[in-house]
Amino acid sequence: YAAKHARSGVRVYRAEDDRNTPRRLAMLADLRTAVERGLIEVAYQPKVDPASGRVLGAEVLSRWFRADGPVAPDEFIPLAERSGLIRPLTRHVLETALAACAGWRRDGHELTVAVNLSPQMLADQALAGEVRDALRRHGLPAAALTLEITETGIMADPSGSAVTLAALRAIGVKLSIDDFGTGHSSLGRLADLAIDEVKIDKSFVRDVLAHPGRRAVTEAALHLGRALDLLVVAEGVETREELDYLRAAGCGAVQGYYLSRPLPPADFTAWLVTQAALTA
Ligand code: C2E
Ligand code: MG
Ligand code: MG
Ligand code: MG
Repeated sequence: YAAKHARSGVRVYRAEDDRNTPRRLAMLADLRTAVERGLIEVAYQPKVDPASGRVLGAEVLSRWFRADGPVAPDEFIPLAERSGLIRPLTRHVLETALAACAGWRRDGHELTVAVNLSPQMLADQALAGEVRDALRRHGLPAAALTLEITETGIMADPSGSAVTLAALRAIGVKLSIDDFGTGHSSLGRLADLAIDEVKIDKSFVRDVLAHPGRRAVTEAALHLGRALDLLVVAEGVETREELDYLRAAGCGAVQGYYLSRPLPPADFTAWLVTQAALTA
């Protein structure tokens, strides 16, 4: 495609091309400062069991409020991944999330936290040891932590990531395949990975009832989950209809704006208290 357009004289845009524009460089400098000073914040989005209404835990999503406004994770996470900042950022997010999780548990909410891991982190031999130490420091069982990794991330280096995934599994952390259905992974490979959870990508959940293809992918994931004893989580649940369908189809957990947007820490705690009162 690129070659064809090169011949025709049309320049094909590639993201790498503006890696060094002044705008990018300024953003990178600000991101470095934000990471170094611990200014990356997090939001928590509940994961709920649709059968009982019970809150199972929360996904932790990074938030960066730059001086001139918020920057989306889809923008700053790739920047962090390319610039060596993803390791300190992930450590900060993990530390923040485990501290929060320990606090919720002290308040009587038996919740888990799910942290997103970039593919680069799977090449980090020190990761499993650091995770184990962090769990100990916060007095948390390993099963209180889920690590979400995209299938594309794992498939980028299946044998390299297998070592880290095995080390993480050995300490008892739960492993989740994020954005399930969007990558180019083979189902056979996924079955070999000994994971605990799959998250159906929100592109399949949106208007699932109106699209036979989306419904087929969703039901295939649920079937795979039953066969392999995995928790199947649907992300991006925005309507009552989607929730009712997923509950009837036997989905183990749901997440999405219909239940709650990702919330700042204090708002999440308030939401939890209200929710606990509703399901008590
Ligand atoms: P993800 O891990 O698949 O997270 C789900 C995304 O869907 C989040 O976007 C969340 O805010 C959004 N979402 C949740 N419910 C709904 C819904 O009902 N409808 C719609 N349309 N969207 C919904 P967000 O927070 O912008 O994050 C985007 C991506 O950035 C994440 O996708 C994840 O891949 C990445 N990310 C965020 N925080 C981190 C982090 O700390 N580390 C790494 N490595 N990646 C992160
Ligand atoms: Mg995720
Ligand atoms: Mg996802
Ligand atoms: Mg995603």
